[in-house]
Amino acid sequence: MDSYNGYSEAERMKKLRASYKVFPGRTHPLYQGSCQICGDSGHPVEPHTEDYSEPYRWENPAEYAVCKVCHGRLHKRFKNPVGWAAYKVHVKRGGYGADLGHDPKIACEVRQLASSLEQGKEIALLLLRPFVVTDLWWDVITVDPVSLTSPSARPR
Ligand SMILES: [Zn+2]
Repeated sequence: MDSYNGYSEAERMKKLRASYKVFPGRTHPLYQGSCQICGDSGHPVEPHTEDYSEPYRWENPAEYAVCKVCHGRLHKRFKNPVGWAAYKVHVKRGGYGADLGHDPKIACEVRQLASSLEQGKEIALLLLRPFVVTDLWWDVITVDPVSLTSPSARPR
């Protein structure tokens, strides 16, 4: 586990262990419901933590329910900011994280968008579903790798 939002691996592990005590056996409420990035309600979600400060908070905006694909993209955004930007466009055209695994055409489209963004161009993606705007917390988070270790990146 790497640093995130200015929290060390040890701090992140400490909250993870605390969550297992407070919510044994995946009883954490953020294992339920729709993904709080892509909105998919048909695939399992898991808690993603933005805030590891004590006293611990277990709900938004300290933690969010996210599907596996969104969770992976979220943490990989620092190494691949253009890929993250393309993924956000995918979500805003009503795309689910799971679409990328289920439909090679959709995955290819998102990769093509990433390479065109890299060249400073934006290509339009086909609308997949109506995008329901809820909380756009994921749209405004940083891709600056300095935030991984800088204490100034901590929400509290
Ligand atoms: Zn998702």
